[in-house]
Amino acid sequence: MKRTAPLITRDDQFFWDGVAAGELRLQRCARCNRMRHPPAPVCPFCHSLDWRVDRASGRGTLYSYVIPRHTPIESGGDPVVVALIELEEGARLVSNLSGAAIDEIRNGMPVEVFFADFENGLRLHQFRPARR
Ligand SMILES: [Zn+2]
Repeated sequence: MKRTAPLITRDDQFFWDGVAAGELRLQRCARCNRMRHPPAPVCPFCHSLDWRVDRASGRGTLYSYVIPRHTPIESGGDPVVVALIELEEGARLVSNLSGAAIDEIRNGMPVEVFFADFENGLRLHQFRPARR
């Protein structure tokens, strides 16, 4: 399957290095200690410029989702679910939800991260229903 590769910048290089290593790495503010995403130089909560990289658990819930009906994304037959995930650390990030029947998808459902390899050596973070 084919996916569009991300445009990697200095601000989010650490995030994509983490994805390549099979880790979900997010920024954590050194002053207010909140995790945030997408990466940015300034904390949106307290405006501090000081931050560190921290590994997120990869567990969270489905906050919202859309299923594009005219998508250029190749999915191998199943519809691609574009998902907004709320991590248990509080940060939200956009990804895809896989492994759930469309009529089973509900906002608030527990999900967990996994890493999928696509064409051209591209690895992306994806989410699936959490195993119980
Ligand atoms: Zn802060």
